[in-house]
Amino acid sequence: MTERFTGNFTQQEPIPDAGIEAALSVLRHGRLHRYNVAAGELSETALLEQEFAAATGARFALAVASGGYALGCALRAVGVGPGDRVLTNAFTLAPVPGAIASVGAVPVFVEVTESLVIDLDDLAAKLDGAKALMLSHMRGHLCDMDRLMALCDAGGVVVIEDCAHTMGAAWDGVPSGRHGAVGCYSTQTYKHMNSGEGGLLVTDDEEIAARAVILSGSYMLYERHLAAPGPEVFERVKYHTPNVSGRMDNLRAAILRPQLALLDDQVRRWNERYRVVEDGLRDTPGLTVVERHEKETYVGSSLQFLLLDWAPDLVQEALARCADRGVELKWFGGAEPVAFTSRYDSWRYAESVPMPASDRILAGIVDMRLPLTFSLEDCAQIARIVRAEVSAVWQQG
Ligand SMILES: *Cc1c(COP(=O)(O)O)cnc(C)c1O
Repeated sequence: MTERFTGNFTQQEPIPDAGIEAALSVLRHGRLHRYNVAAGELSETALLEQEFAAATGARFALAVASGGYALGCALRAVGVGPGDRVLTNAFTLAPVPGAIASVGAVPVFVEVTESLVIDLDDLAAKLDGAKALMLSHMRGHLCDMDRLMALCDAGGVVVIEDCAHTMGAAWDGVPSGRHGAVGCYSTQTYKHMNSGEGGLLVTDDEEIAARAVILSGSYMLYERHLAAPGPEVFERVKYHTPNVSGRMDNLRAAILRPQLALLDDQVRRWNERYRVVEDGLRDTPGLTVVERHEKETYVGSSLQFLLLDWAPDLVQEALARCADRGVELKWFGGAEPVAFTSRYDSWRYAESVPMPASDRILAGIVDMRLPLTFSLEDCAQIARIVRAEVSAVWQQG
């Protein structure tokens, strides 16, 4: 009898009890708005920001309504505006080019390598005339951040990091989000901390931080922040910075604070699962495992492999056979955007030139989530099923 996996790839763990308790107490006192505090009270949102700044080693942190909001807010805060060219990855998710388009700027796509990171040679060739790089650490893969920063610093290009998949990751010991001018994170359900929706942004630059706070909708209540610059910095920016409301509320912050305290342990658990699947897939004929750089500390909350140079109908057949056995895989090579997967040429509001080198990679990328509700035995079983079905299709192809 062939084995079938019965787990659910979109089922995350419950919110920790401490988060549920904290959320209930916010609901009981009723002060959900972040600036609605009793005398002497520090809001959950302000405390979350303080703790997130400490966890990442950043001077300033701001909690906002979503990861996508953090990206748009960061672009505005660094001064990107209509018509500016903003470089970004050809391999990313829709909120990234969406954030660029939301400020009237023009996305310029940079090629992806077989390691699933931004192609630094292509980046170097495109720096001229760009105002910023919105660097997406897509699916948790970090490029050589030392070389990337050297290139962008020399070219005068501001770097904003999209760390939706790298909260808790690091390059050469430096936390992801701490290389560029701004690091942006998401706390949407499928990311590394779960508040349903939510985002965070970190920076060491006091004017960027003050502008971001005002942009997020602080009115003139910025003194109620614990991880923001002093009032003199706000004096310099407050009359020139629009309010583009996108605050986080105390309910979501209350849910997140206990998760932040557990993040390192969760990262370790994700990586245990990742290694079991990776080991099980290694040396499967026709399948390429994505190797990690020794300087990369990653978070294995999802896993990608490549079916490089396969005919599209064979990729689809392999995926269908895995799906029949309960293993849900996503493909970035599909002609039409499906659920969370789409390609640079699906975003027709953003002009793109054909990128044959990236098309070859994208056509081979297969993706799976690894929620922490999976046991290590689940992970071993998933790998056995993928290995069997991919090998079977490869042999017939
Ligand atoms: C989820 C995600 C975002 C944005 O997060 P939201 O909180 O859903 O707005 C940005 N970039 C990538 C790569 C993501 O996966």
